[in-house]
Amino acid sequence: MAMRIVVLGGGTAGTTVANRLARALRPEIRRGAVEVTVVTDRDRHWYQPGYLFVVFNERPLEDFVRPERALLLPDVGMVVDAITRIDLERKQLISPHRHYPYDVLVIATGSYPDFQSVPGLAEVTYNFYTPEGAERLRDRLTTWTGGRIMIVQDVPHKCPAAPVEVTLMLDDYFRRRRLRDRVEIVYTYPIGRVHAAEPIADWAKQQFDARGIRYETFFNMEAVDPKRQVVLTMDGGEHPFDLLISIPAHKGAGVILNSGIGDESGFIPTDRHTLKMIGQDDVYVLGDATNLPISKAGSTAHYQAEVLVKNLVDRVRGLPETHLYNGKVACFLENSLGDASFITFDYDRPPKPAATSELLHWFKGMYNDLYWLTARGLM
Ligand SMILES: Cc1cc2nc3c(=O)[nH]c(=O)nc-3n(C[C@H](O)[C@H](O)[C@H](O)COP(=O)(O)OP(=O)(O)OC[C@H]3O[C@@H](n4cnc5c(N)ncnc54)[C@H](O)[C@@H]3O)c2cc1C
Repeated sequence: MAMRIVVLGGGTAGTTVANRLARALRPEIRRGAVEVTVVTDRDRHWYQPGYLFVVFNERPLEDFVRPERALLLPDVGMVVDAITRIDLERKQLISPHRHYPYDVLVIATGSYPDFQSVPGLAEVTYNFYTPEGAERLRDRLTTWTGGRIMIVQDVPHKCPAAPVEVTLMLDDYFRRRRLRDRVEIVYTYPIGRVHAAEPIADWAKQQFDARGIRYETFFNMEAVDPKRQVVLTMDGGEHPFDLLISIPAHKGAGVILNSGIGDESGFIPTDRHTLKMIGQDDVYVLGDATNLPISKAGSTAHYQAEVLVKNLVDRVRGLPETHLYNGKVACFLENSLGDASFITFDYDRPPKPAATSELLHWFKGMYNDLYWLTARGLM
């Protein structure tokens, strides 16, 4: 019987892993020794970093979505079904319709902003972390004539640099539209600096200071009063806004919480090097679904996929699994609508933002289209 490798989740991590596996294990798949199947709850695949460009009307939302089946190689099976429980003992995924047995499971179920985590927030907030949110925010900004914009956030959230980027892009957007002097931009962060990673905090603070962007640290939301348009913070402060953009703390997928296999936020305890679920020899985890203390980012998933695939191929071929993930992440950092910086870091080396340039912004724009090759496992 074929070895059944089931990948749960058809986002960046799941799609990349499945395609790379199918390419590396083509002989085994073709002779029926291995099956690779993606089980995902949507038939469409969103490139989430593209949402930032939708907000500023630089690109339409349709540019950032593809049918998942079209991204997967023909050798990869695909099932669209919403899994409600993972049964590690019986080695199966369970949905209201079917059970899916596996020999090896790869969990790539992502992370999701929890807009209910702060009372009152969901009623009044705008966001750029969902496709609908990005379009709604774009439309609001189009008719905006001035006032106080607050960018509020809590951790953990995916793409830790995105709130800094949207703030810097907002500044440029309003300058280009000759509205900047009528807009007050206030960026907030829950700890004592403007970003968790010190080098990024230093870099961002310099940009904020140079452009008159206000920032408040130790800013921890307790509630939002939608009627009075005020954010209430845990230190008793009241912060009025005309437009609120939030990036609330994220949770793991509902199926992880429901299966009781994650921590209290639904992130799965994962070995930082082997990417195996702690205590499980047949279950691997990658992308946003892990509990690892590194950026929840598409590039993280990409570098993890490289390691995971090498180990899985060795496993299939009866070889030892010796490849280790070193925590590598790489991200562009938009500094405006026309220039960007770039960071790369790992478990041992902190990020060091590169000098900003138009060229780096251009690369980021290029990658918005090249991403589909990454998902196909070609880059
Ligand atoms: C605005 C924004 C900007 C970003 N910018 C960057 C950037 O510049 N660089 C970068 O590297 N990253 C960036 N990211 C982060 C990046 O998009 C994510 O980290 C990446 O998508 C994580 O991949 P993933 O596969 O773990 O999760 P996802 O891509 O979210 O995929 C999760 C998959 O799991 C499926 N799933 C969940 N639950 C179930 C279930 N019960 N049954 C079946 N299927 C299920 C979902 O349908 C989905 O297909 C950004 C994100 C946002 C929102």
